[in-house]
Amino acid sequence: ARYGPEGIGLLRTEAYFLEEADEEGDRVIGHNQRRFLERAAELAGKNVLTVRLYDVGGDKMASQAGEELNPALGWRGVRVLLSRPGLLRQQLELIISTLEPFPCDTQLLIPMVSGVEEVVSVRKMMDEICRDKKLTPVKLGVMVEVPSAVMLAGDLSKHADFMSIGTNDLTQYMLAADRGNASVKSSYNPVHPAVWRIIDQLIKTCKAHNTPLSVCGELASKPDAALILAGMGINALSMSGPSIPEVKKRLRSHTLELLKNKALHILECSTTEEVNTVLQSLNEG
Ligand code: PEP
Ligand code: MG
Repeated sequence: ARYGPEGIGLLRTEAYFLEEADEEGDRVIGHNQRRFLERAAELAGKNVLTVRLYDVGGDKMASQAGEELNPALGWRGVRVLLSRPGLLRQQLELIISTLEPFPCDTQLLIPMVSGVEEVVSVRKMMDEICRDKKLTPVKLGVMVEVPSAVMLAGDLSKHADFMSIGTNDLTQYMLAADRGNASVKSSYNPVHPAVWRIIDQLIKTCKAHNTPLSVCGELASKPDAALILAGMGINALSMSGPSIPEVKKRLRSHTLELLKNKALHILECSTTEEVNTVLQSLNEG
């Protein structure tokens, strides 16, 4: 909180996955996650608190998925949640009931969405829980990390209250480069021209559908990239605390008009070298 954020754009909950999966009974299940959510809500005050549902599998707690040849393309994110409905139900109820008394603007984020059906299923479950337990449903958002979610963004907009771009995974799936594999480190490039273009496509679709859109991947915390995102029309960036002051300072030192111009230049680039030249130019003058 001391770095001056306006809300919490991405609260990861994976650390509590095993606790929830534990079948020791109600007394133990959820206790630590409840405390964690309460603490986050205290810090968020009246601002937004975006809680991501468990995103396990892939690079996170891969052992849960067992042996997989391509874990990043395997049993992870919302696929895990929907194949274990009891677990999803438990987490949804825990989050919504814990946060209901707080004044924060609670939002739920679904990880690794690749199609409309996944969002419809999670919403259906949230609505059922809220009806049964007399709770108020909260905003439900799509984490855009898979290119198919960008292609379907207009359709997803009809079922989601907001979207947030997870640039770490979007880069990985856009460029077919494993984010955790050192051998393809140079191919995993978050400022690749194609990454900027897919982000721009999503921004335009969300704008046309009046769907709020933020960026919660690492790209948002890189000051030059954050300036370009702002120039493209993004007005909510989520990052780790220590990055906030520098990004704010840089955003305040440029006019939006200049940033829009630089964003147009980025979209014309066909190589990373050209992209880097435009990013570098933001540090001149
Ligand atoms: C992302 O993919 O950009 C993201 C924020 O999620 P994570 O890094 O936890 O996969
Ligand atoms: Mg991700």
